[in-house]
Amino acid sequence: MSKKARTRFAPSPTGYMHIGNLRTALYTFLTAKHADGTFILRIEDTDQGRYVEGATDVIYSTLKETGLTWDEGPDIGGDFGPYVQSERQGFFKKYAEMLVESGHAYYCFCSKERLDALHEEQAAAGEISHYDRHCRDLSPEEIKENLEKGIPYVIRQKMPLDGVTSFDDLIYGHIEVENKELEDQILIKTDGMPTYNFANVVDDHLMQITHVVRGNEYISSTPKYNLLYDAFGWDKPTYIHCPPVMKDEHSKLSKRNGDASYQDLIAKGYLSSAVLNYLLLLGWSPVGEQEIFSLEEMIKAWDPARISKSPAIFDPIKLKYINSVYIKNLTPEEFVEAATPWIRSVVSSDIDIELLCRNLHPRCEVLSDIPPRITFIDEMPEYDISFYVNKKQKTTAETSLTALKEIRTILENLEDWNKDVIFEKCAERAKEMEVKNGWLLYPLGIALSGLKSTPGGGTDLAAMMGKEKTLSRLNDAIAKLENA
Ligand code: GLU
Repeated sequence: MSKKARTRFAPSPTGYMHIGNLRTALYTFLTAKHADGTFILRIEDTDQGRYVEGATDVIYSTLKETGLTWDEGPDIGGDFGPYVQSERQGFFKKYAEMLVESGHAYYCFCSKERLDALHEEQAAAGEISHYDRHCRDLSPEEIKENLEKGIPYVIRQKMPLDGVTSFDDLIYGHIEVENKELEDQILIKTDGMPTYNFANVVDDHLMQITHVVRGNEYISSTPKYNLLYDAFGWDKPTYIHCPPVMKDEHSKLSKRNGDASYQDLIAKGYLSSAVLNYLLLLGWSPVGEQEIFSLEEMIKAWDPARISKSPAIFDPIKLKYINSVYIKNLTPEEFVEAATPWIRSVVSSDIDIELLCRNLHPRCEVLSDIPPRITFIDEMPEYDISFYVNKKQKTTAETSLTALKEIRTILENLEDWNKDVIFEKCAERAKEMEVKNGWLLYPLGIALSGLKSTPGGGTDLAAMMGKEKTLSRLNDAIAKLENA
């Protein structure tokens, strides 16, 4: 009987959610959920050079915003805690000692000076620096004596000297390494704490992880991990190593370019759900042609074997396309909620946000499209009177002056300030004058915005900006045309 899937996302808190990492989180989540299993969050905070304030919160908030909720984790607990690696440090040594007993690990008393000298020699000889197994065969008496003298020691893994170790990766297939290539890596440091390489194996076992999903930079360490599983006699997980996310064929996405993290994308106006959908397809393909997936649909369609082996190249055009679909699918209320902070970043005057949003929504692909289109609301830009010339509407600067004066008369006397009434009154007047609506209204858009293309026509702009501002801009436009 197969065990229920248990997967873990094990980020190191860096204060930053690289999109490759978020993709790993998604694939890990889906691997659990597709099998109706358990998704675990484990914070791996021991190899960090320094503590980054608030870094864990970035992980929590990113996973929450994208809907990748965990079933066990530091904040909610679970039967296999603690879920923060630094809080688990105490009990690893006893596992390493079990390996010493069974002959799979050994005490190493080499001093820093000896190791430094060794590595210098190796460098001079053009060799890759590695441990020379100096303490591997110390006699029990020598070990006892060193321990009694209190000489600091580490515990190292005793790699087999011949043969091969292999494993089958779900994505990369059968992978083999010659055991003689494997360094006798440190499992426990002089301070008694585990190295990352040891801790993650013991943690995965203790947390009963069935599928390890992670970046392919761990492929080369996996044989060493498997030797540990074998030494303990533990069941090995299924390995799913994911290819990296690249900027182009040669370079990885990097923090420096400001496009590598989830937070960067949100700051650029992408929706969480669209980013997640994009990441699904960044290195994975469904069976059919479907591109837009809700989280539920992702869970259903997920098959980790369809993750691609080749590096995934980040495609900003595709991301933008997917985002535009998600924006289009927002309800008007959702769009108002998403767009308001972007509107308020450049507009402080009193405006009808709902009406503005109704006009912005159909043309918005990314929320950051919004601010540059609406700065005219607070501050009327300079514009040239040639803007009033429009062949299609048959308008010129002269006709526009006439039109704007007509509109001013209508609007000055209008009590009920709303879009439909404004439009109706203007349309009525156009009919009386025997002109087309556009002839009368095209100049209004220019007069109110100084732009040829605006979110909404002239009557919408008037309605959303209010009577006072509309009349004041109309007066300015009329004066400008009169003085031209
Ligand atoms: N803490 C590791 C990282 O952030 C996780 C590696 C793993 O999933 O095993 O890269």
